[in-house]
Amino acid sequence: MGYKAPRGTRDILPQEASRWHILEEKFKELCYIYDFAEIRTPIFEETELFVRSVGEESDVVKKEMYAFKDRGGRELALRPEGTAGVVRAYLEHGMHNITQPVKIFYYGPMFRYDRPQAGRQRQFYQMGIEVFGTKEPSADVEVIKFTAEFFFKLGFKNLKLHINSVGCPQCRPSYQEDLKEFAREKLSSLCPDCQKRALLNPLRLLDCKTESCRNLMNDSPQIDGYFCNSCREHFSEVLKLLKVLNVSYYVDPRLVRGLDYYTNTAFEFISENIGAQGSLGGGGRYDNLVESCGGPPVPGVGMAVGVERIVLAMEKEEFSLGKNEPEGVFLAIDGHDFREEGLIMLYSMREKGLRAEIDYLNRSLKGQMKFAHRSGFRYVIILGREEKLKNEVKLRDMLKGEQLELSYEEALIFLIAERGHTFFRGMSPCSEKNN
Ligand SMILES: [Zn+2]
Ligand SMILES: [Zn+2]
Repeated sequence: MGYKAPRGTRDILPQEASRWHILEEKFKELCYIYDFAEIRTPIFEETELFVRSVGEESDVVKKEMYAFKDRGGRELALRPEGTAGVVRAYLEHGMHNITQPVKIFYYGPMFRYDRPQAGRQRQFYQMGIEVFGTKEPSADVEVIKFTAEFFFKLGFKNLKLHINSVGCPQCRPSYQEDLKEFAREKLSSLCPDCQKRALLNPLRLLDCKTESCRNLMNDSPQIDGYFCNSCREHFSEVLKLLKVLNVSYYVDPRLVRGLDYYTNTAFEFISENIGAQGSLGGGGRYDNLVESCGGPPVPGVGMAVGVERIVLAMEKEEFSLGKNEPEGVFLAIDGHDFREEGLIMLYSMREKGLRAEIDYLNRSLKGQMKFAHRSGFRYVIILGREEKLKNEVKLRDMLKGEQLELSYEEALIFLIAERGHTFFRGMSPCSEKNN
């Protein structure tokens, strides 16, 4: 039968969309409270931008990028992550010349050619925040605290914050050397990927997904023995501030993150309910990224979370994901004569901001009542000959099974008064204060 969505992509169906709305709503609400402003960048950029930022040797660039030539011969790639495009825009629009820090959030689809699995798609959605222009540990903590708060607001109570420092270009090389040395002795037992990593990108030896590699690397040297003074101080200040704010954490010396641009702080939020690599999101500091994208040396720190993975974890945790309580009003017309009057009523209700619907298929009154129930309408207004003679309508509460006869105007006043708590559960714009 016909066409199917391409491998690694998924339709978000109408009945699932409310879960996504919860995430989007909470995220934007927090961005407002924490004073992050939105940026929307293109979903494709020059391929070179990702090669230089994410790293030539990273899996993302080597194996997973949707890179292509357009009809003009330009080398382009669908964005595999959000930060590179934000950095490009930050520089292109001179945001490094305005008052710092610049705090930005983004939300949108990313693309990686990876083996699809539950919660991992080739087109996937990320929400992220970035803080540019400060090296202060308090900025790292701001980003971590935001992320912790976001998960807490969604209902997660048992996520683990894993945190590490990946050092800096001053102190990391000698660690990488020793790690290389350590791996050299075990080279033949490592997976083919790790054999390459041992030469080109030894830090990534630590986060190989292969069990045997993990075991082999278990007693490798740890980075904290190599920190320079400023890295050591930065990391201990971050941990101190997390403690002050009651954010519990676990220092994980093996946490290096998949992208090459991190310096100092790296962190992940892990759920034990979505499999071995249960990361729901994470981030870290990237003090050399702006410079390597062609800008001045501007420090930065940020995070991104994966929407599909969060939705999956919420399902596994069996959070109530906004049960579809009946709301709104269905206008049932009993007989053709009232069709026009019904339409006028329908649009006047919608004008008042009520969720309102009417029948489009000439159903019987009974059929319309059934439809209203199935479609999740709390109230039905019935307009028919009998009511019309008395200049009234019937207002039926489908939840309580109660029915009133009153004028249409009275019904409208009642429905508007009810709206506050039964209608309107859609997205609240982050520019408005809500509840
Ligand atoms: Zn250092
Ligand atoms: Zn491996």
